[in-house]
Amino acid sequence: MTQSTTARVGRFHQGRLSEGRPQALDAWRVTTDDADVAARVAGLLGGEPQPNDGGGGGLAHEVLTSRDSVRVIVDGPDAVAAHMVLWSSKVIVHDCDGSRFLAPEEKKGQPCGCPPLLEDKRLAARDGRGPMPSIDLTFRIAAAPVLGKFHFQTSSWQLAAQLSDLTDALERVDGPAVCDLTMELVLLTTKTGRSVCYRKPVVAVLGSPDTVAPEPPSSAEPTPAPASSAPRRKARRPHEPATRNVPELACSVSVDTALLHRAAQVLGTSDHQETVVAALSAVAAGQQQTTELAQLRDHVGRIAAIAEQALHGGDSSRT
Ligand SMILES: [Zn+2]
Repeated sequence: MTQSTTARVGRFHQGRLSEGRPQALDAWRVTTDDADVAARVAGLLGGEPQPNDGGGGGLAHEVLTSRDSVRVIVDGPDAVAAHMVLWSSKVIVHDCDGSRFLAPEEKKGQPCGCPPLLEDKRLAARDGRGPMPSIDLTFRIAAAPVLGKFHFQTSSWQLAAQLSDLTDALERVDGPAVCDLTMELVLLTTKTGRSVCYRKPVVAVLGSPDTVAPEPPSSAEPTPAPASSAPRRKARRPHEPATRNVPELACSVSVDTALLHRAAQVLGTSDHQETVVAALSAVAAGQQQTTELAQLRDHVGRIAAIAEQALHGGDSSRT
């Protein structure tokens, strides 16, 4: 569960920062310090290399690709590092594996007090009482493994729930495993009956590089995905999201955890993703003119833009 961070050439993201605020995307964004790698990534996955002003460890270049799924090679279960962390004022105050502390050193191995069930962990995290998943996946792009290792960090509960299946599947391949790393569209109905959608990261283990092609058959042709291209998704798309290049829309939201908790109570949602998209659903539909929502309207207005992205399939799990 440990790995070196020195050899990574770049990073995959489901979002970016726009004017300091998180913004969900509907296709992978790749950041790197290497201009040649950025150019190669753009050639492989679509998009254009550009200076990275969207956050991500200070890497110099970013590519907003046109792919929501990328075929990658994962070097076994050790390429998946996962723990649970709770931050407070930019300091980690709880770092565990879900049942025992991983840090600080003097507490390592001791029971951490987290509930055993993932759903209870999720509720504790939602209320700010417990840690969230922190998952780091290291991989190479299957079509160009020579580019080097990339990684993807996520706090997705869905991926956390999938983790043991993922490591088991990687064990079974017994060596480098070809996987599809996908921002999968999720359609759901909240407790209050709203239909919402967002994207969750999914890693599908396909097999060894000897038996699995480095590119899925359907993506053999270039996918520049201009704004006029046909929608690839089932989700209703009132208009194209402006995420292919530097976005002009204010698709962003301030991180206001207390507000999100209150909104979750009002909207009956179970995590931040649902809350944000459900908040937009309420605004867009002109519904729920309750006192609570009216008080939230200022903030919800800001949430609305990113939620609109989420309705197109953006993942706001880190907000
Ligand atoms: Zn814990």
